[in-house]
Amino acid sequence: MREISAELLASRADSMKADMVGFCQRLIQTKSISGEERGVADLYLAEMEALGYDETFRDDAGNVVGLVYGSEPGPTIMYNSHMDHVSEGDTRNWEGYDPYGALIDECPVDDQEKTVRETVRCLHGRAASDVKGGGAVQVYAGGLLARLKKEGYVFKGNFMFTGVVLEEAAEAIGMRCLCETTLPARGLDYDAVVSSEATSLKLYLGHRGRTEFLITTHGRTSHGSAPWLGVNAIYKAMPVIARVKDELYPALPTDPDLGQASVSLNIIECLPGALSIVPDQCMLSIDRRTIPGETQAEVTAQFQRILDELAREDPEFKADIIVKSAKEHTYTGLTLDALKDGGPWKIPKEHPFVKAAALGLEAVGQEVKYDYWVFGTDLWVNAGLCHKPSIGYSPMQEQFAHTPYDKVRIDYMEKALLGNASIFLRCGEAGDGLRQPI
Ligand SMILES: [Zn+2]
Repeated sequence: MREISAELLASRADSMKADMVGFCQRLIQTKSISGEERGVADLYLAEMEALGYDETFRDDAGNVVGLVYGSEPGPTIMYNSHMDHVSEGDTRNWEGYDPYGALIDECPVDDQEKTVRETVRCLHGRAASDVKGGGAVQVYAGGLLARLKKEGYVFKGNFMFTGVVLEEAAEAIGMRCLCETTLPARGLDYDAVVSSEATSLKLYLGHRGRTEFLITTHGRTSHGSAPWLGVNAIYKAMPVIARVKDELYPALPTDPDLGQASVSLNIIECLPGALSIVPDQCMLSIDRRTIPGETQAEVTAQFQRILDELAREDPEFKADIIVKSAKEHTYTGLTLDALKDGGPWKIPKEHPFVKAAALGLEAVGQEVKYDYWVFGTDLWVNAGLCHKPSIGYSPMQEQFAHTPYDKVRIDYMEKALLGNASIFLRCGEAGDGLRQPI
């Protein structure tokens, strides 16, 4: 059996760095707004085939999957990246960079802790930091393993790259399709997930959940000139807003790692919505971030209690609440419905998967630091709903995501290539504990 030493891994990673960066440039040059990911999906599939993956395929929703099978049995580790990105916004804010130019230059950029500016080579463009920088690295980590296997080296377990559609829409429709339909239909499963969402080379161990609610207050229309004849639904919404802001939010629980749960009223709409009519419906779209231990039923009941109290105080008050859902269209022509509901999760540092990842990073000389995301990711599905062990590990830096300063440090991409491959090899040695649900 030929052992894979850290030196061997580093030398092979070194020889693949330039191609990996070139691949990332092509990804950035291929615009892939949510629902329009076909071009990038084609690039991912072609690159995995060229790198010697054992199997690649595209599913009905347009997600892509690539597998590198180890020579010995072991866990299947999913390396996940989404393929879509948000709009570039006003190009005048891009400081002279073309959002789809994928230019490489030396420029001042934050270090890992955002305390020092370092001048290093960076790759610029929309999605460099969310998540094409991380996606290119993950695909090449699998390519590195495929190459080692071809050279006769032995490792345990299977590497699974998944590129999913429609992450930015925030209902995790692509990921749900992949995990609930595609993988089971093909007899495939996975034991743990590494997400490429931005972590600045740290290990990220969780994020809050998110449920979007729609509260509708009901009134009765009248002519705008005679408001006393109607019941204004907007005015009926005012005490709801006040109680959510001043009573519910301050009382929400706090998680020592993930921070306080939160609630934010983000959209107010009304119907019929004409200047001469007193509105009979007012809709409040509410973003509720949850922490582990909070269930959707409980969180819904908190709002319902407010509505019930108001109904007792005001006989005219009528309101209801639902969890919002959305329809999304995939580039393959499917229209899919999804609830706007994602679970909170965190994984303990002592979990065998986290320990294996930490050992993997130490083996290639990377300092292990832990943190948690403020925002949510598609791990809502894998970790939040399915309780699969999950972590984030990525060269990308959160502060550049969705901004006109979108970029990725090339030195971090090179480190993450080595780090990802090393994490995978350690997982193969971790034993069955790695599969412990979280
Ligand atoms: Zn994003």
